[in-house]
This record gives sequence, structure tokens and C-alpha cells, in this order.
Amino acid sequence: MTTEHVDVLIIGAGLSGIGAAHHIHSAFPRRTYAILEAREAIGGTWDLFRYPGVRSDSDMHTLGYRFRPWTQAKSIADGPSILEYIRQTAADAGIDRHIRFSHRVVKASWSTEESKWTVTAEHDGKQVELTTSFLYLCTGYYHYEAGHTPEFPGMSQFGGTVVHPQHWPADLDYKGKKVVVIGSGATAVTLVPAMASDAEHVTMLQRSPSYIATMPGEDKIANRLRELLGNRRAYSITRWKNVAVATLIYQLSRRRPGLVKSLLRKAAARQLPRDYDIDTHFTPRYQPWDQRLCLAPDGDIFRAIRRGRASVVTGHIREFTPTGIRLESGSTVDADIVVTATGLRLLVFGGMRLIVDGDDVKLPETMAYKGMMLSGVPNFVFTIGYTNASWTLKADLVSEYVVRLLRHMDAHGYSRCVPTNDDPTVTEQPLLDFQAGYVLRAIHEFPKAGSRAPWQLGMSYAHDVVNLRFGKIDDGAMRFART
Ligand SMILES: Cc1cc2nc3c(=O)[nH]c(=O)nc-3n(C[C@H](O)[C@H](O)[C@H](O)COP(=O)(O)OP(=O)(O)OC[C@H]3O[C@@H](n4cnc5c(N)ncnc54)[C@H](O)[C@@H]3O)c2cc1C
Repeated sequence: MTTEHVDVLIIGAGLSGIGAAHHIHSAFPRRTYAILEAREAIGGTWDLFRYPGVRSDSDMHTLGYRFRPWTQAKSIADGPSILEYIRQTAADAGIDRHIRFSHRVVKASWSTEESKWTVTAEHDGKQVELTTSFLYLCTGYYHYEAGHTPEFPGMSQFGGTVVHPQHWPADLDYKGKKVVVIGSGATAVTLVPAMASDAEHVTMLQRSPSYIATMPGEDKIANRLRELLGNRRAYSITRWKNVAVATLIYQLSRRRPGLVKSLLRKAAARQLPRDYDIDTHFTPRYQPWDQRLCLAPDGDIFRAIRRGRASVVTGHIREFTPTGIRLESGSTVDADIVVTATGLRLLVFGGMRLIVDGDDVKLPETMAYKGMMLSGVPNFVFTIGYTNASWTLKADLVSEYVVRLLRHMDAHGYSRCVPTNDDPTVTEQPLLDFQAGYVLRAIHEFPKAGSRAPWQLGMSYAHDVVNLRFGKIDDGAMRFART
């Protein structure tokens, strides 16, 4: 029996995988490609998460693809609209016909002799194999099976319902119920105002606060530009405008953390009731952008607090009781429903095993080249977006780079490219330079970044545009070979 071969094999049909397919298909209409997707749906994150109010916390002019304008009035979009945007992108270019659903890739094995990968996926309880010349991972960054839920003492004696946002029961009725949301990250900050309108009361129970920035849900400038200039030109201008604003806020946060802290505090104070205890509930212990900044579109969480529909409790959980949660301080919070918005579990490369010429690749011993390929691993690219800006900004650049790389290989008749680090002065750094708990719990399983280019982790979009869209392909660290 012959094994099917495709020129490019993409793993994952989320935002990145569909974008990657679009770039590959547009640049090389005659190349064969397929997408293997573990689930039965397109969209990844935006199909999986179904909790009330699920939305982006980036603007869609940068979370959208460079090649497909976001044309809706809302810049901070809800999950279903983002999912529709991804699905429509796949349908319009016929990408959906290339997706093999329910194919969970478990292993990829490279042979230098044959210059190809053999990829093994589980499908319908059986193992299927495909071969490919180029392996392109778009597997996201977390476990799909389960999120992170710490075991709290006494959880089993709680008489109400406990749910994790990653597995939201479609029939959960929270109307008129007392809801406690454990957590203070983007998901909690989204859930609290979304549930507050129907629940009797929503309490955000946090161990420590996060920074929350208020932004308009609609971008008036973007909408006006669209009227004046049409979708495409307006989109490109708004995209750069938003990149510039986000970069400015990020750089200011790193260089003048005190100033940004005070601006965020003043903005929160303006929206909260007089005499509200901002120090306890809205003053984080870390500096702005040590962790991702949470977003409140049109100040929704502050409005829910002001109206008495929601409140914040800051403290450590001692235990669950039959009727709620008891804190270390001794106080209790009553609950009918507890939502554990306690985060994700990181997973590197969708849990796949990588083998090169018979040897298992030990990921922590590899170094990431331009934050998208691995030292010693040929014809292999992965997509991990920015942590300080929209994921898709990087995902699009990775695709553009792959197109340039494949063109370069075609032009010179190369069949292999492999990033090689033989510079002893390059020192190791973490691949995700981010202090969030979910990153710290798993970062030791990830490849490393390096102390200088091209191994250094780029976290500046403008810098990466120069580097990935226009930089030299044959830069000395990338080695090429013909079979
Ligand atoms: C609730 C939530 C909100 C977010 N909001 C934002 C935001 O506002 N801005 C932002 O920039 N980022 C945000 N992110 C990060 C978000 O994940 C990215 O924006 C983006 O959706 C990632 O797309 P992706 O395609 O790379 O990964 P995913 O969306 O995770 O998709 C990966 C796909 O790969 C598949 N897959 C994984 N492993 C395998 C395997 N072994 N075999 C086959 N298939 C596999 C999965 O089933 C999935 O379909 C958010 C994340 C979450 C969880």
C-alpha cells in the first residue's frame, strides 16, 4: 500500500492553520497540501470556548488576517463572529476541502535520506500515515482536553455546580443564581459582566488582582475610515494604527511602569463607586505587561460593579463548603454556581512526538529560530503568536516567511533547510518571556530561545516585519541541502 504524500502538511485548523493554508495555497496553487485537525470543527480556540460573552481581548484589525479585512463595526468581537470569520476564510478559498477532521497527530518522523516527514495520526481508533516534504504546525499552545483547575479542599461537598470555561455546558441556567467566578485573568474579566445581567449576583473571587484597561468596543476611527476609503485600505491603515498604539502602551509599560500603573488606576477609579477599595481589588503586585493586560470593552466590568450586579473579593480560598466558598480570612461567599476561570494548561506542539533520523527530539534541548523553527529539525515550522500583541500578527508573518523560504528552496533546487546553532556565545532564554502562572507551570517543556538574532524571541511586530518579510533567507544559521 502506498502512503499518501503532500507537499505541505499543516497540523491544526484554527485561526493559524486556516491562515497558513491561505498563504500556501495563494503562493503555490499547484503545490499539494492538507490540514490534519484533531477535532471535528474549524476554528480551534474560537470553536472550543462557548462561555457567556466569549470574545477577543485584542482588536480584530490586528487579530484578523492581513489578507482579509475585518469589516464589522465592533473592533472587540464576540467569539461566534470570530469563528464565522475563520470559517468564511476557509470556505471562500476552498481550504475546507483540504481539512481531514478527527485526525490527531501523535508522531512525526523525519528521514534525511528521503527528505520527508512521515506523520502518524489517530483517526477512528486507527493509525493513519501521510508523508510530507514540509511540516507546518498550527497546533496552538494549550491542552484541548482540560484546562487548569487546582484541587480545592472540600470541592466534593459543594452542593452547587462547578464548571470550567473550557467546557461550558450548553444548558447551564444561571438566571437568578448566585455565581462565583474564581480567577482574575481575561476569562474571568469577560465572564463577570456577561453573566451579571442574568444572574442574581456575580462575585469575582481572585487571589490577586490583574490590570484591566478600558477600551471602546467599537473603533470610531476605523469605522469612519471604512466609510471614506473602503474596506481594504481602511483595514490596512487601522491595522498599523492599532499596532502603533499597542506598541506604545507596551513600551511605556516597560519603561515607565509607574506612569502606566497610575493611569490605569485613575481610569478604574473614575468608573468605580466612590470610596471603592481599589488598592485591594484593582492594584496588582506586578508591573503592567508582566502579564497580559485584561481588557474591559466600554468598561463593562466596572459598570456591573457600579450597578451592584457584580463584586470583587480578594483573598485565598481555604475550602469549599456545601453552600459556597470559605476564605483563609474566615469570611464566606455563597454560591449556586462556581466557575473555575483558573486558566489553561500549556501544551507544546499539540503533544506530538518529534523524531529526526530515528532520534527523539528533546524539545527543551532545541533552540527556536526566529521563534518559528527549531535547531536541528529540518523542514519544520511552528506558529506561536505574540504574548504582547495579537496572535495573528505573528502567525501571518510566519506564513509569509514560509512562502519566501519555499521559493528560495525552489529557486536553488534545495530539498532541506535546517536552522543550525553553532555559535557558542548564544545563551539560552525562555521561549515565552511571560510571568503568568500558566506559562511558569510548563515553560520547562518548551524549546528555548537564544540571546541574540536569529535565535532571540522577537516581540516587536515592526521588527519582525523587517526581519521576516524582508530579511535574508540564507543568513548563515539556516543551512540548505539537496537530496
Ligand atoms: C479564551 C481565549 C481568548 C483568546 N483571546 C485572544 C485575543 O483576544 N487575542 C490574541 O491575540 N489571542 C487570543 N487568544 C489566544 C488564541 O489562542 C489565539 O488568538 C488563536 O486563536 C490561536 O490560534 P491557533 O490556530 O494558533 O491555535 P488554536 O486556536 O488553539 O487552534 C489549534 C488547532 O490545532 C488543533 N490541534 C492541536 N493539536 C493537534 C494535534 N496533535 N493533531 C491535530 N490537530 C491538533 C486543535 O484541535 C485546534 O483546532 C485567546 C485564547 C483563548 C483561550
